[in-house]
Amino acid sequence: MAETGHSSILLAPCFYPDRHMPTTPTNTPSTPAHIDLLIKARWIIPVVPENRILENCALAVHQGKILAITPSDGAIQRFTPREIIDLGSHVLIPGLVNAHGHAAMSLLRGYADDQPLKAWLNDHIWPTEKRWMSEEFVRDGTELAIAEMVKTGTTCFSDMYFFPEQAAQASLEASIRCQLAFPIIDFPTAWGQGPDEYLSKGLNLHDTFRSNHLVNVAFGPHAPYTVCDASLQKIAVLAHEMDMPIHIHLHETAQEISDSIQQYGRRPSQRLMDLGLLSPLTQTVHMTQIDDTDVQLLQNSGAHVIHCPESNLKLASGFCPVDRLMKAGINVAIGTDGAASNNDLDLFGELKTAALLAKAVAGDASALDAHTALRMATLNGARALGLDDCIGSLEPGKSADITAVNLGELVMQPVYNPASQLIYTRSGNAVSHVWVEGKCLLKNRELQTLNEREILGKAKWWQKQIAVH
Ligand SMILES: [Zn+2]
Repeated sequence: MAETGHSSILLAPCFYPDRHMPTTPTNTPSTPAHIDLLIKARWIIPVVPENRILENCALAVHQGKILAITPSDGAIQRFTPREIIDLGSHVLIPGLVNAHGHAAMSLLRGYADDQPLKAWLNDHIWPTEKRWMSEEFVRDGTELAIAEMVKTGTTCFSDMYFFPEQAAQASLEASIRCQLAFPIIDFPTAWGQGPDEYLSKGLNLHDTFRSNHLVNVAFGPHAPYTVCDASLQKIAVLAHEMDMPIHIHLHETAQEISDSIQQYGRRPSQRLMDLGLLSPLTQTVHMTQIDDTDVQLLQNSGAHVIHCPESNLKLASGFCPVDRLMKAGINVAIGTDGAASNNDLDLFGELKTAALLAKAVAGDASALDAHTALRMATLNGARALGLDDCIGSLEPGKSADITAVNLGELVMQPVYNPASQLIYTRSGNAVSHVWVEGKCLLKNRELQTLNEREILGKAKWWQKQIAVH
């Protein structure tokens, strides 16, 4: 194992003994194993072990799982692949996990910009959603979002939106992995009359996809200020009984905190703790307003934080102290939020913003270094969603959810440290290939499971409808 000049980069010709090798196919020194796919790459960043960069290695994939990581030279002696892909200037990383968003809101990208959160929601987003919300809106908007996410390296996304049945179908057709946090909110929408109907429809969705590999269902109470105590308590009990995640916007703005103190005599985090809603099953989104007691509540409960820096910046909500939370041992993942408040779903762009913002907020240029940022968008995201036994790192036995980024372009040169290039340059545009469970979703930047022309046509159609009203 050789070490280069930079202390955080360890280049190794190969690692991972075969102790994790699945029993099939058999692999003896004299007979190369038949496998589905061999991806040779200039670099591999597996995320586990930490801070490791492998050079000139190959990933062996069979039956949707990672079988081994092995030196490219000699890989053919070990394996007989049905397909070989040679990515001579690329880095392979675990597929990215976009841990928070509202996929269908892609159709409202750029619709109401430069507004504070309350006016943005009350005067623009909610009235427009009320007018246009339908199964077709959600299906078409989710497809547009998935296409963008796949093209920028995301292989798993968390979604909180109405008509999640449509998002499930769109995800299945695209073959992308998702967590659908079905919304629960105190007021009626096109999807239901109130919390009881949302819960019953959401639990049906959970039953439908109980044994599906790709579609995971979670509770999605919108926020402490839009869901009453009784519903929150019910969700807490059901989530623990059914071992299902809870996904909730929390501490997004300073006003949310002051309103809660006025109405309930407590900060929202304390109210959720008292209602039994904070636990390792809970994903708290935003957390821009944090004091010492909030840090302690997160530590004691084991709840996760989903950081959405660009949405927080655009809506002037505040700053999540990522470095402080991570140093306190709290798991922090990352999300783009919806395209209406970002306005893109490129997780690489989000990582650059997150890394820069973390340094500014901590007053420390070493805060959220490139490897830590990449971990936030992979393994930490998988942990938050309860999927880390399956995804989040490139390890034998895990699902073959893989993203390839081409570092051969002019804007990437020269490459001293592939991890830095991923975080601090425009990597989203350099994503070349994406696989989920070994299935190729993006090949040489072309979508394989979605029809890009059709999606473009539908987006233009919706823009015309929405703009004239
Ligand atoms: Zn959100």
